Amino acid sequence: VLPAPSDAPTATPDSRPVAADCAGPDRYLAAARENRNNLDLIAWSPFGRAERGWRTYSPFVGQTIGTDCPPDTPRFAEALANWSSRQGLRADGVLTSDAFLRMKNAAHGLRPFVAVRGRGVCPDAPDERRLATAGPAEGYRGKAVQMRPAVLAAYRRMVADARRELPELRSDPDMLDIFSAYRSPAYDAARCARDGNCQGITRASCSPHRTGLALDIVVGTAPGHPVDSTNDVNRRAMSQTPAYRWLVKNARRYGFVNYVFEPWHWEYVEEPV
Ligand SMILES: [Zn+2]
Repeated sequence: VLPAPSDAPTATPDSRPVAADCAGPDRYLAAARENRNNLDLIAWSPFGRAERGWRTYSPFVGQTIGTDCPPDTPRFAEALANWSSRQGLRADGVLTSDAFLRMKNAAHGLRPFVAVRGRGVCPDAPDERRLATAGPAEGYRGKAVQMRPAVLAAYRRMVADARRELPELRSDPDMLDIFSAYRSPAYDAARCARDGNCQGITRASCSPHRTGLALDIVVGTAPGHPVDSTNDVNRRAMSQTPAYRWLVKNARRYGFVNYVFEPWHWEYVEEPV
């Protein structure tokens, strides 16, 4: 477990100003109200662990249904209704667990690692001599991190563009740094034995990090939480940072797909596992 960045962004609820064109249409006011109630309250287990609300996943849902409007607005509900209708699902503009499951499975379907695991295969690690090493300014707090060369090249393009488009990132030297990348199967096995949790959501015995295609990227934390904490308060705070929102909107263009339960975990999907 790594320490939290000193200047971690605080957990901010969705307080962006609501653009005028997010306020309508009126026929989705009731759905928007229900979404607002559910955002922090609904009890569900979308990843097999009980949690409350879907605010953590709201940037992902917005990206999937094609809207920038906040999740409690009528325009968001309308976009959700349109998406649900195309999917043949209940289309009243209220996010249901069925709709979310469809979105989650579609995102998993973009990850070759998930497909390979679905066939019961744990992929071999790549030849370590062919891995690229990120620079000291790219690894979190100077940590040496290795990955496949194509992943490092894509990461560099992506982060350069993010820093150009989000000037606020410049005040936080940790933001978008890599805190974990390639991990050898031997390293993960030792960690598994040490921590005694090999099959949990966060410590799979066959981790995607063995492929050299997975990156854990700093996207902020809740105050006092480490950069990789799956605590719900921490995940919710991460999901609302400008850095994470930017990645959700743009990372796919650079070849990266998020494991939505972990806002920090991104897999490069343009190269076979
Ligand atoms: Zn990861």
